[in-house]
Amino acid sequence: MLNDDQLLRYSRQIMLPEVDIAGQEAWLKSTVLIIGVGGLGSPVAMYLAAAGVGRLVLVDDDKVELTNLQRQIIHRTETIGQPKVASAKAALAALNPDIQVEAIDGRLEGEALEQQVIAADLVVDCSDNFATRFALNDACVKHKTPLVSGAAIRLEGQVAVFDSRRDDAPCYRCLYRDGDEESLTCADSGVLAPLVGIIGSVQAMEALKVLADIGEPLVGKLLLLDGRHMDWRTLKLRRDPECPCCADNNN
Ligand SMILES: [Zn+2]
Repeated sequence: MLNDDQLLRYSRQIMLPEVDIAGQEAWLKSTVLIIGVGGLGSPVAMYLAAAGVGRLVLVDDDKVELTNLQRQIIHRTETIGQPKVASAKAALAALNPDIQVEAIDGRLEGEALEQQVIAADLVVDCSDNFATRFALNDACVKHKTPLVSGAAIRLEGQVAVFDSRRDDAPCYRCLYRDGDEESLTCADSGVLAPLVGIIGSVQAMEALKVLADIGEPLVGKLLLLDGRHMDWRTLKLRRDPECPCCADNNN
C-alpha cells in the first residue's frame, strides 16, 4: 500500500495508465543489482532511485577520481577519494530517502556474485570490462534473472536486455565470446560526457519496463547508437544453439 507521500512523490508516473498503482508497487517491492557506479551506473542508479525502486544494491571497487567527474554525475568534487559506492549511496539518500540502498565496496565473484543475483529481481550491467560482463551473464542465465546490459565508449553506445525466463531469448555470450573483443576503457579511448547519460538512461528505462511488465523491452535486440550522427539502429539477436552458456540451459 502506498502512503500519501509516495502517492505524491511518484504521481507523475502513477498517472500513466501503463504504470498505475500496480506498477509503482512492483517497483517499490523490487531489488535491483547495479554493477558499476561510473558513467552508466550514475544515471541508472539515480533514475531507479528517483522512480522508487525499493532496494538498490550498488557494487564497485573504485574510488572517486577527478577524471570521473566529467561524466559520472552521481559523484561530487567533495567525494573525490571516497569509495564510489559510498559517494553514490549518499547522493541517492538525498535524492530519495524512501528507498533502501546497499553499498558493496568490492568486486563480486563466484558464490558472492551468485547470491546477489539470486536476491535481485533484475541486474543492470554498468561495468567496463568483459570479464565482469561474462560472469554476470552466466549468473543471470543460471538463475533466470533478467539482465540489462549497456556499453558506451567515444561517441558510440549500445543496450540490450537478456531475459532467460523467456524461451529462445539469447544471452550475452550468444553475442560475444571470450577473446572476441578487447576491453576498451574510457581511460584509453575517451568518451563524450552525455553519451553515458543517454545509454544509462535507456538502461534505466528498460529496467523499469521489465520490472513492471510495460511495453516491449529490448529482449532479442541490440540497440546501437552512433552519437556522431545521432543515428539509432536496432539489430535482431538470436539465441546461438552452440552458445557455451545458454544452450545447455534451454530446457
Ligand atoms: Zn547464449
